[in-house]
Amino acid sequence: MKQPEVSKQPEAAGAAPELIVFSILRASQCSQCKTKLESGSFLTLEKGQPLCMICADVDHLVFLPRGDTALTLYDKLLMQGLDRSEARVAVEDKIEEVLSSWENPEASNR
Ligand SMILES: [Zn+2]
Repeated sequence: MKQPEVSKQPEAAGAAPELIVFSILRASQCSQCKTKLESGSFLTLEKGQPLCMICADVDHLVFLPRGDTALTLYDKLLMQGLDRSEARVAVEDKIEEVLSSWENPEASNR
């Protein structure tokens, strides 16, 4: 099987290696668990071998398409399994804090 070409990136001393995840165009297979990865699946490379997101231990990460760079705390809570009313209660204090800072910017800009 032909492997995708990967450019070598210099890594800063002591820095964790940068993880690059690919959305694949052609079907592949995880080199570890042998799961078939369909076109459009995500994979990463470890020592030149394809790894699925589970074997790379990054399956907890969420892909955010361009233009949607951040999830709100509310979104994150929903993804953790809270229902909407529980998530609303959990973010209520933070929202009140922000609204209050807008109403009284002098107090928050000290
Ligand atoms: Zn795997």
